[in-house]
Amino acid sequence: MATTHPSTVDAVVIGAGLAGLRAAADLVASGAQVVVLEARDRVGGRVFSHRFTDGQTCERGAEFIDGSHVEVLALAAELGLPVSERGGDLDPHGTLVDAGGRAVPMQLHASLAGDLAGWTAALAALMPTDEYEAGSLADLIGPLGLSAVSRLVVGRDIRTEFMLPPEAVGRRFAAEVQSRRVAGERERHRVVGGNDQLAIGLAARLGSRVRLSTPVRSIVADSGLVTLADGEVLAAAAVIAAVPLPVLTRLWPAVPGELGSVGYGVGGKISAQFGRRIWRDYSRNGTVLSDRSWGHLWETTDDQPGDAGVLTSLLSSYDGADFVALPEAPDRLVHEIDRIFPGAKGLAGERVVTDWTNDPCSLGTYSCFGPGQWLAAQTALHVVHGRLWLAGEHADGFAGFMEGALRSGARVAAKIAAG
Ligand SMILES: Cc1cc2nc3c(=O)[nH]c(=O)nc-3n(C[C@H](O)[C@H](O)[C@H](O)COP(=O)(O)OP(=O)(O)OC[C@H]3O[C@@H](n4cnc5c(N)ncnc54)[C@H](O)[C@@H]3O)c2cc1C
Repeated sequence: MATTHPSTVDAVVIGAGLAGLRAAADLVASGAQVVVLEARDRVGGRVFSHRFTDGQTCERGAEFIDGSHVEVLALAAELGLPVSERGGDLDPHGTLVDAGGRAVPMQLHASLAGDLAGWTAALAALMPTDEYEAGSLADLIGPLGLSAVSRLVVGRDIRTEFMLPPEAVGRRFAAEVQSRRVAGERERHRVVGGNDQLAIGLAARLGSRVRLSTPVRSIVADSGLVTLADGEVLAAAAVIAAVPLPVLTRLWPAVPGELGSVGYGVGGKISAQFGRRIWRDYSRNGTVLSDRSWGHLWETTDDQPGDAGVLTSLLSSYDGADFVALPEAPDRLVHEIDRIFPGAKGLAGERVVTDWTNDPCSLGTYSCFGPGQWLAAQTALHVVHGRLWLAGEHADGFAGFMEGALRSGARVAAKIAAG
């Protein structure tokens, strides 16, 4: 539908992920007239839960909530959503390291404990200050003289956290992430029944203000004009773009170069349900760190009841992104799981594949600021460009997490409400 006179509202929010929904809900609470435009036919964006027929769930995107992610936990509490309690640290007895086609319990690798302590100390020594702006995590690993198996485990840790290889992760960005970690609080919770209830709960407060299946085609920052894919034009005193940066660069031709160049992780996830938790027969917890491109496997149902169990593989970095895009990827993964836990193949049921790199509404997994990119992007992320404000996980110190998305949305809404 094409309109000659754009309809005018106080604020147009582009994207109904956690950042956009938080901003919209806060603005509505302050009395503003708001419209949320969402390209997909669902809310939540990179928070996307899947429900198996027996009621078990898996997360196609964001899965874990750290104990220090106070905004996520506060939202869950506000919406009356219980969260599970789990141990987030790797258990060296239950975890397998799969190298050269042989999966061996982590605790049997004598070099690992000392090498991992060295890696942890090197990370802890990073400071979120400008002197760490240059350089990547590869610079940090080199001097440690790690054994081959330790390089595998540290490399997996980095790829799982950032979805890119060590040389693509800026030291400064890693320091920012590290500075917000609280020991013992990592990956402590999931929302019982699916993380997507966080987004659904926020969207319920907005009702018909959220327009699904309404992709935005372009933004003019100075005039606050937003053009939809069908040609409709909306005008607003404030426009909030709460889309991933690779998407923003397509909608906003005048995007500053320092935003367009921010690195983004690549890859996706495959979850497979098994009729029985066969890894327990082998006295393992389902966690495997592999040198193969399917990467990092864990049990997603470790905090869920039922006989069945779901293993999730995080396919990270360039080789992981290539793997998840293959049509035969789920079968190959099940085959690999059967190599490690013989008998698994016969128990395999539904498989769920999510390729975030090739999804036009994401074009990647989450922001990963490369060497020299963090400081360069901060001003452009936090100022208003004409009438355009930026929100999203990339626009917060908790970048890459649901926490960052919520915080960025709340911050932008507060600035707009303050005039
Ligand atoms: C594989 C994976 C694992 C993750 N694991 C974790 C984890 O364990 N813990 C954690 O805290 N976080 C995790 N994250 C990160 C977390 O999902 C994100 O940080 C957070 O959900 C981002 O929210 P957002 O609102 O910034 O962006 P999004 O959720 O991406 O929301 C943006 C919205 O904009 C919409 N959109 C895109 N283009 C357009 C358009 N043209 N017009 C209109 N709308 C548009 C999208 O459809 C989407 O709904 C993970 C992410 C991935 C991909």
